[in-house]
Amino acid sequence: SGYEIEKIHDYLWEIPARDGMLVPGRIYATENMLRNQISGDEAVRQVVNVAHLPGIQMYSIAMPDIHWGYGFPIGGVAATDIETGVISPGGVGYDINCGVRLARTNLKFDDVEKRIPKFVENLFKNIPTGVGASGAIRKLSEKEIRKILVNGSRWAVENGFGSEDDLLYTEENGRLEGADPDAVSRRAIERGADQAGTLGSGNHFLEVDLVEEIYDEKIADIFGLFKGQLVILIHTGSRGLGYQVCDDYLKLLVNSEKKFGFNLPDKQLACAPIKSVEGKDYLNAMKAAANFAWNNRQIIMHLAKKTLIETLSISQRELGFELVYDVCHNIAKIEEHVITEKDGDRILKKVCVHRKGATRAFPPGSDYIPEKYREAGQPVLIPGDMGRYSFVLAGSESAMHETFGSSCHGAGRLQSRHQALKSAKGKDIIGELKNKGITVHAKGRKTIAEEMPDAYKDVSEVVEVMHNAGISKKVAKLKPAGVIKG
Ligand code: 5GP
Ligand code: MN
Ligand code: MN
Repeated sequence: SGYEIEKIHDYLWEIPARDGMLVPGRIYATENMLRNQISGDEAVRQVVNVAHLPGIQMYSIAMPDIHWGYGFPIGGVAATDIETGVISPGGVGYDINCGVRLARTNLKFDDVEKRIPKFVENLFKNIPTGVGASGAIRKLSEKEIRKILVNGSRWAVENGFGSEDDLLYTEENGRLEGADPDAVSRRAIERGADQAGTLGSGNHFLEVDLVEEIYDEKIADIFGLFKGQLVILIHTGSRGLGYQVCDDYLKLLVNSEKKFGFNLPDKQLACAPIKSVEGKDYLNAMKAAANFAWNNRQIIMHLAKKTLIETLSISQRELGFELVYDVCHNIAKIEEHVITEKDGDRILKKVCVHRKGATRAFPPGSDYIPEKYREAGQPVLIPGDMGRYSFVLAGSESAMHETFGSSCHGAGRLQSRHQALKSAKGKDIIGELKNKGITVHAKGRKTIAEEMPDAYKDVSEVVEVMHNAGISKKVAKLKPAGVIKG
């Protein structure tokens, strides 16, 4: 990439701060990943660019799943001082609060394996997928959408799509305080009106998985996971509503560089001081979109539960369907972290942690994770791809010292969508997956090609880096058996 890169240890590399960088860049990766996947990529330049953001603290961080994104790399983490720093929509991404949730069951995979294709078929009927997917539930009035923007997952629970416990096991209890529907455009609200409970397109999915391997028995048990279990993994975000919010604020911030006297290396880093009117409006609109996303995943999970009960004709009790956890991986959050200053002083500071394709990974003992998980650390959910595997990790103390309590979020793309389409030509990906025992239902053939396993890095390598660097611990490996996609 042309940047000087120093080795900190086998899984961590540093780009020293120079030429306007306010802090060093840090990349978590193996030497092999750095050489063969990362360094040729524009993403490294983006790590360097982010290090220029006013008020950035300690490091501009990249996770091993790093790849090119709008302004910030996907797999990027940056914390800015809330007094002197900025907030940047590119540091959150277009799909505000895209995230993952994992639900457990009491079911042994082997006992229900034969019914899985039927279950997947029914899921595909009951949960709208695709770009403009709509109509999972009734079309909502503007008033109702505004309630969702303020209350997040609680709206779903109050309207019969889940239980109080679901809120307990959702990051932030499925609701960010301070969301402002008035900061969300009419157009954004319109786009959300019929999209509550819809999956969307492409990378978004609902998957039926087998818990194939347990690495940490004690933590797995605390999370309610066991070898041979059937679980459900859901990945989606804030749909058209969140996209519109991002778009609206990027337009608003087009001239912010001049207005606030910044000198940024990339237009796509458009940002505003957190304390400015623009900064506050974006933050509060982003919170609203995040709440919409949580409510979305909550409704989808409930529809999946109902579908499972109907397909298997079993009782709720037998099924034992419970939310393990829900994490967001595209978000900016005000959190307190111990910051090591340039002179070596360590002080507790309020910072705005941008996690763009990165997952919160809080350690055992954290006040921000459910009581039941205090001893284990926060569940960290890492999807891989629809053909190989996904992982469950647990947060650790090192993440608090090194990454503002963050971990990776997925495998990360190896090929662009365009490249994937090309290399999928002539291949029968659905057939190949079927031969591996994986049932896939998708809206479009194009999606299948763009999302084929080969388009992604091997997530086990990504997760290994996080584990070996001590950022989060391996708990369980999940193997796909059925997937629905947009
Ligand atoms: P995003 O696209 O939200 O940045 O990334 C989420 C991650 O999900 C990707 O990096 C990829 O590893 C993973 N992923 C994409 N499609 C699928 C799928 O169908 N199944 C699973 N298990 N993971 C997927
Ligand atoms: Mn995502
Ligand atoms: Mn998304």
